[in-house]
Amino acid sequence: MGYLDGFAVTIRQHRLFGGKQVTTEYSGGRAAKRKGHASDPDVGNDKKIDKPERLHGRHVLNRYEDGMEKCIGCELCAGVCPAKCIYVRGADNDPVNPTSPGERFGFVYEINYLRCIHCDLCVEACPTEAITETKLFEFSFTNRQDAIYTKKELLVGDDGQPKHMPWEDWRDGDDKLTSGWMRATSPSGDATFQGVVGWSNELGHGERPPEAPQAEADQ
Ligand code: SF4
Ligand code: SF4
Repeated sequence: MGYLDGFAVTIRQHRLFGGKQVTTEYSGGRAAKRKGHASDPDVGNDKKIDKPERLHGRHVLNRYEDGMEKCIGCELCAGVCPAKCIYVRGADNDPVNPTSPGERFGFVYEINYLRCIHCDLCVEACPTEAITETKLFEFSFTNRQDAIYTKKELLVGDDGQPKHMPWEDWRDGDDKLTSGWMRATSPSGDATFQGVVGWSNELGHGERPPEAPQAEADQ
């Protein structure tokens, strides 16, 4: 498809020309400027549109309940990333004052959000549930430096909550479903594992409850 064909598709989709507003409908954007009848409670409210509970948003690096970091610097996430946007360097733990359980920890950890396609393959590959995704999708940058998140931005704070950057629009619930249970490999489809917790505890959250059976989730 040439450039002109592409522009034609864009114009056809624009709401001024009767398009479906595809971006607004599927991106989980705000309803703030939504136009409609005054009886619609969302008209004029600065409210985000509800997102699917498995939406892949901004990442976090998780910690265990005792504060230790879950990342062991194995680089599997970087190896699997199709966009090549993760950079990890591991280092040996200090035996007296270790950063993570085991021998190694993530000494350098970076995600370049100018390249990330939020496929979640890094989350699937991680053996320790260290890297997971929140529901925050409302973040944009005015320079390249801000778009490259380092460990300082990604690692959850001492309260177990994601750090909030000035250019991020966090709202209640954006980090509620951020955990190992969100992985596709969680046993949600196998009745044998129904109600069984298959992930480790987290700083600030303790043990996340088991995923609801599919029949309940569909209600
Ligand atoms: S979500 Fe996908 S593209 Fe983004 S860092 Fe993870 S593996 Fe890479
Ligand atoms: S986030 Fe997970 S996969 Fe990536 S380096 Fe750390 S432990 Fe390994």
